[in-house]
Parts: sequence; structure tokens; C-alpha cells
Amino acid sequence: MAPTKLNAAIIVVSTTASKDPSSDASGDLLTESFIANSSAESTTWKVVARRIVSDDREEIQGALKTLLEGPTKLNLIVTTGGTGFAIADITPEVRDPISPFLQIPVLINWIGISMMSRPVAGVSGSTIIVTLPGSPKGATENLGALIKLLPHACIQAAGIQSSRKLHSGGVESLEKQTGVYNHSHSHGHGHATPRAHTSAESRANRLGDAVTRGHRESPYPMVTVKEATDIIARETQLKGIVEVQVNEDLVGYVLAEDVTAVESVPAYRASIVDGYAVVHSDGKGTYPVVSVSHAAPGSIPPLASGQVARVTTGAPLPPCATAVAMVEDTVLKSMTEDEKEEAEVEILADRMEDGENVREVGSDVMKGDVVLKKGDIISAIGGEVGLLASVGRASVKVYDKVTVGVLSTGDEVVHHCREGELQLGEIRDSNRPALLSAIKAQGFSTVDLGITGDKTGALQSTLIEALQSVDVIVTTGGVSMGELDLLKPTIEQSLDGTIHFGRVAMKPGKPTTFATVESPKKKLIFALPGNPASALVTLHLFVLPSLRKSQGYEHYDFPQVRVTVDEDMGLDPRPEFRRAFVRFDMVDGRLHASGTGGQRSSRIGSAHGANAVLVMPALREVSEKRRELGCIPKGETVDAILWGQIGCA
Ligand code: AMP
Ligand code: MG
Repeated sequence: MAPTKLNAAIIVVSTTASKDPSSDASGDLLTESFIANSSAESTTWKVVARRIVSDDREEIQGALKTLLEGPTKLNLIVTTGGTGFAIADITPEVRDPISPFLQIPVLINWIGISMMSRPVAGVSGSTIIVTLPGSPKGATENLGALIKLLPHACIQAAGIQSSRKLHSGGVESLEKQTGVYNHSHSHGHGHATPRAHTSAESRANRLGDAVTRGHRESPYPMVTVKEATDIIARETQLKGIVEVQVNEDLVGYVLAEDVTAVESVPAYRASIVDGYAVVHSDGKGTYPVVSVSHAAPGSIPPLASGQVARVTTGAPLPPCATAVAMVEDTVLKSMTEDEKEEAEVEILADRMEDGENVREVGSDVMKGDVVLKKGDIISAIGGEVGLLASVGRASVKVYDKVTVGVLSTGDEVVHHCREGELQLGEIRDSNRPALLSAIKAQGFSTVDLGITGDKTGALQSTLIEALQSVDVIVTTGGVSMGELDLLKPTIEQSLDGTIHFGRVAMKPGKPTTFATVESPKKKLIFALPGNPASALVTLHLFVLPSLRKSQGYEHYDFPQVRVTVDEDMGLDPRPEFRRAFVRFDMVDGRLHASGTGGQRSSRIGSAHGANAVLVMPALREVSEKRRELGCIPKGETVDAILWGQIGCA
């Protein structure tokens, strides 16, 4: 069989070697390793490019970019050195310069093999990228450990074009093939039966641990927003079906049954106008007024040819009448002797048609018609309630709404209206009132669970008690990496819950955590970040759609539209959800978005006046032009998720 030909490139990251290439030994050794691991039967490795760059983020990324975008198709890029980039920065994503290129990070953690403080590997397009340590020994040893497994992974990456396909099955097998399969990670991408992501030993911030024993890096794999929403949707079940009275409280419910009309609307032949019931074939002429029919119950004598009857709008037609002449098309000819009633009128209308100005029986709704379908939403417009009332329904079957408990956590958090000045370190609880309002406005019952401090016992007992009375718990705070961040360990260790994800690749809202607890029925726990803007963004992105799904909404996500940005919108390495105001522009007929000020996650003001979030792609996902600009420039378009009503201007 012909050998598989694979192209590799090596990037040596070393400030010294960039000045004096002769000082680099790793590049040669790695090239030799590739040659030594080539065989005429199976795989031949060809090192088609070698670069030496200084230990500088821009330089590293520049080299990667030219290699990835160059004319030669690369199966593998290895970098060696550059451990400097693993040292302190704000977030892991910003910390290493490689990750922004990886559409699918294949592994986060291959400590068994690498001595690097933060090795990364993943897939960029159809190329696998792996970082190796800088020392010649470390680099060759690590490559040696991987190289037998790389061909298969490279072939798979080369054959898989879209990240979607990679996601559906590819990632895990890539991990396995590269020998870097991380078991704690195995449930992050696939949809297998969930379980705790960490062993009891390795859990982050084990309850009772000393500060120094806490994890330095989260053991929870980072999931994408799409993966997170998919997981939530999978875990969200319908609450159940209940029978509810047809009245104003029905608004917001989703029907759990088809509604069939048991009577027709109208139930009798009714006049559409004020006028005179006629036998239409009589034509123009002067006729005696033999009866009067008001829109009121009662009996009316039949009409004979040559007679008319006065009728009001909505009144039943006399039997045998075939049409109604509008009062505007008639003239009063004579009165009764007592002058109380009309005696004769002249019909001026010519060529009237059979059924003119008549609402036939069942012409609005016919008995037996399905007037509303299972899945229809009872809107606040009133149309559905009106329709149900018109066919005489007293009650209908709907999907029950969940009850949501909202809890703030944090020793520093005090009631928002506590009197007196704040002491150093205290912060007013803005999350609970904000979240309760947003949830209630969507029509769900809420339970205010108050504030708990960062004490295991208090948190545990509050959660256990709340699980008795609510279906969903939303907490804020306590999900970061601090030693007082107890949510995750409490859910896993005290409630025996399952954390489905504990980190999401997004800004704001990275620590967002989603768990389920069997209590004994399955209950959902959304542990949102404490920062107020993060809490509101993640509530709208993750919690509210889940609540809507649980009460039967087919389209439970908020609507997404395309908007033109009215100002440059800066891009971030992470996908970002920027609070914005979306308005309809009467002049160009398009939707426009403007920012709502500083987007720092602690700034709740960024959600003031916001009716949407802009779905800003991660820097690495945009076109080269935009990447260079570092923004979506004013006048260009981006997706927006609508949280509220569109403004007008
Ligand atoms: P945490 O997620 O607990 O690390 O909190 C992150 C940040 O959000 C900290 O600055 C907290 O003080 C702040 N924070 C936490 N809970 C609330 C709350 N209920 N209202 C306002 N800010 C909060
Ligand atoms: Mg906290």
C-alpha cells in the first residue's frame, strides 16, 4: 500500500534563536524525528517549512497565520518553546497565542506527556497544531510520545472540513488517537450520559480544603455556547400538563391540546350592518316594515317577499330574509299613526345579492373546526383568549410553568435596600432583583431565596430546602476559581448533582455552570457568575430559553436578527455578547444597533436600555480584514439576539 504523505511544519519559538539561528537545536532534532518515523509502508513525514520566531505573541501568531494560509497544505504544525507565553496573564485564552487559532481544542491537558506548563493542541481548518516544550530533549521526547498516533489524527482532520462534523464524533476520536484523551473531558462534547467531570480527589476546591490546595486552573472543560445550549436543551424536560381557566391569567401558556369548536360562530345568521332585512330578489321599491330585530335574544317572525324588517348590527335575520340593505341605502317613507314606528321604507339599493351583509352560521368558526392547535402560545395580544372564549371554552389543557428560585451568594453581598453606608468590601445585591424581574416578566412564578454567605453549610441547606419547592434554581456568584467559590463542589459533593458544564467560551459569563440534581425528580441548577452584567447575559442566553422550553415553547430561543452596527464594535478573542440597543431605521428600512456603554462584566449599566445582545464572533473567526481592524466596523452587519421590543427611529 502506498504510504500516506503528511506535511509538517516546525515553528521554533525562541528569542535567542531568532537572533542567532545556529543556536537552535530543537528544529533539527524534530526534523530528524519526523524522518526517523517515516516508513515506506505506512507514513512519510515531510517537513515542508521551518520558522524561527522570537518569544512574542504577535510573531508567533504571524508565523502560524502565514503557514496556515500559505499555498502548501499542512497536516501538522508543531511549535517548540515559547513557554514564556504560558506565564501570567488574565485568562488562559489570552495567555497562549495558539489557542485563538484552534477551532477545536483537542486537548487541554496532556500533562502525562508534556512538561510544559500549558501545552495546547487542536485543529485549525484541516491542520493539527501541537505545542512542544522548548528544550531539545523535551521537544523530541514529547514528539516521540505522540508521533505514532498523529498520522491517523492528521488524516481525520484533513478529511473533516467543518468544525460541526468534527464536533459530531471527531473530537473524541482525535483525542483518543493522539493518545491525549482526557477522561474528565469525555462528556463535554459528546452527549453521553453525564456524570461528574472530576474524581473526588481532583475536584476543584474540595469542601474543607485549605486555600493553598485549591485548583490553579479549572478542571471543567470549556464548552462552546452552542454546546452549552445543546446540553441545556437536552436536560430540559416538559414540566407537565395542567387544566387552566380561560381568562387573563392564561397569557403566556402553551396549549397542550387541540381545541375544537363545539358550536359555530356566529350561531345564527346575523346582520353585518344597521339596516333592513330584505328578500333580495324583491329589488328596489317601497316596502312595509313588519318587524324589528335587535342584537338581543328572542324570536323573530319570518319575512315574506314584499316585506322588510329593521335590523341592527349583529342582530339575527328573520327567517326567510336573504340580505340586508344598509340604512344609508334607504329612505323613510311613512310612520305609524302613533308616530312611534316606521311604517314604510324605500329600498334604494339595486341588484342586491343573496347573502349580502349577512354573516352566515359558522362563517367565522364552524362547529367541529380546530380553532387552536397543541403548541400554540396564548399571546398577550388577546387573539387566542378571545378565540377560546368565542367557542365557549371554560378551561384548556396547557403545559405547566416551572417555578424558579433565585439565590444570591457571597459574603460581601447585602440586601439592596439595607440602610446605612456600605462597609469596605460590601456590595449591594443587584442580581437577585434583576433576575427575579426578568424571570417574572416572562410569566414564571419565582421564589426569592435570599442571600447566602460563602459558607458550605448555609449554601447546602438553602439549596436542599429550595429543591423541595422549586423546579429550577438560579444562583449568582461563587462559581469562579476563588477558594470561596463553593457552588460547584456543593452541587457535586453535597447534593450529589451532575455538573454538565462548568465553563463556557464566552464573554461575559465564562464561569457559567449548569447542573442537574435528582431530588427525586430532576431539577435544574443554573449557577451564574456573580458579575451583574454576566448574570443577566447568561440568564437570557441559557436560563430563559430553558424555562420556555420546559413549558412547551417550540421556538424557545429569543429571536436572532441581522443588524447594522452604528459604531465600531471591538472584537475579543472570546465570542462576546455585547449589550446593545436595536432600532428600526425608518430611512433605510434596516435594523441598526448601538452600544450601551462600557461592557465590563461588573457594569450592570451596560444592560440599561439594552433590548438585545450582539453576537460578536471571536477574533479568530472573522475575516482577515476584520481581524486586522480588531472590530466589526461601523456600517457592517452582525447578528443580534432580541431580548425585548425593537425601538423605532
Ligand atoms: P463571584 O462570581 O462570586 O466571584 O463574583 C464576581 C463578582 O460579582 C464579585 O465582584 C462580586 O462581588 C459580584 N457579585 C456577586 N454577587 C453579586 C450580586 N448578587 N449583586 C451584585 N454583584 C455581585
Ligand atoms: Mg463570590
